[in-house]
This record gives sequence, structure tokens and C-alpha cells, in this order.
Amino acid sequence: MTTLFSKIIAREIPADIVYEDERCLAFRDINPQAPTHVLLIPKQEIARLADASTADQDLLGHLLLAAGRVARQLGVGDAFRLVVNNGADAGQTVFHLHLHILAGRPLHWPPG
Ligand code: AMP
Repeated sequence: MTTLFSKIIAREIPADIVYEDERCLAFRDINPQAPTHVLLIPKQEIARLADASTADQDLLGHLLLAAGRVARQLGVGDAFRLVVNNGADAGQTVFHLHLHILAGRPLHWPPG
């Protein structure tokens, strides 16, 4: 199912894009929960992390490495949190796999 994130990839709706490579795109969350709150998404449409398969192994590794790169690029490479909400009960609202990159304030644990 195509979501608004595919429209952001296609530049059909605007976003504050901070990073792009051949396989993924990162842009600032429209409703930030921290001073730095970026969403990192694969260009390939995968609805949920639980829908990824071993065929996506390389892409998933690519996303984690890109997350670190984006954090460093934004000056928060030493203290950031990655969050993946999988499924509506876990808080997922957009069904295109995305990593939340959160930073810029103390991040408490447990996350709640
Ligand atoms: P999740 O709840 O994990 O599915 O995260 C979806 C995130 O997408 C939320 O944090 C929203 O604030 C964010 N979001 C929704 N629409 C947009 C948009 N047009 N541009 C940027 N972020 C968005």
C-alpha cells in the first residue's frame, strides 16, 4: 500500500529532507518529539519491519548505517535513539517502514 512517505520520496508532497542516497531518504518529522527528530525510510515500500524478509537483509543493514551517518551529519552522533514502531498497537501510524532518529535532549528509559 502506498503511503504519504512514497509521495515524499517522489517529491509529490514537501518535506525537510536532510539525507538521501540510492536506497533511503531522511527528513524531519512534522511533529517532532525531540530537538532532532528525523525519519529515515527505505525507498522500497515495506509496510512494517515485520514484513521484511531475508531478501531485505542488506537494505536493513544499510538503514542502520545510514542512521548513524545522518546522526553524525546533524551533530548528534554521540547521543541518539532509534525507534521503530511496528504495528498500530506499538504506535505505528504510517505503514511504510521508518526509523525515528531522536536526539538533542535527555532520552529516558523505559521509553513508555
Ligand atoms: P509512526 O507513528 O511510528 O508511524 O510515525 C509516523 C511519523 O510520521 C509521526 O511521528 C508523524 O509525526 C510523522 N509524519 C506524518 N506525516 C508527516 C509528514 N508529512 N512529514 C513528516 N513527518 C510526518
